[in-house]
Amino acid sequence: MLLTLLICFLLLVLVSQHHRSLLFAGLVVIVLIEAYGLYRIVQHDYDLCRDLGYICPFCQKPLYEARAGTHLNGLCPKCGKSILPVTQQAPC
Ligand SMILES: [Zn+2]
Repeated sequence: MLLTLLICFLLLVLVSQHHRSLLFAGLVVIVLIEAYGLYRIVQHDYDLCRDLGYICPFCQKPLYEARAGTHLNGLCPKCGKSILPVTQQAPC
């Protein structure tokens, strides 16, 4: 997305004034399409977590987040509570 913006910015600078508005409209369309694509990716992850039941028992939000490390620390990426079951220690 950033590369697209950079290319379009360079084109806006290089293109004559007459074609600038058309190029700007194309830029807006491209950015909107890319934003929608990112939205669909996030929404797909959200739906997949709901289907698999991979949601937090406390806040009911999906536990999957790309950089959260939930499988390492056992904490919900949204509310920060521990999702690991509490084990009771046997009395000595
Ligand atoms: Zn949570």
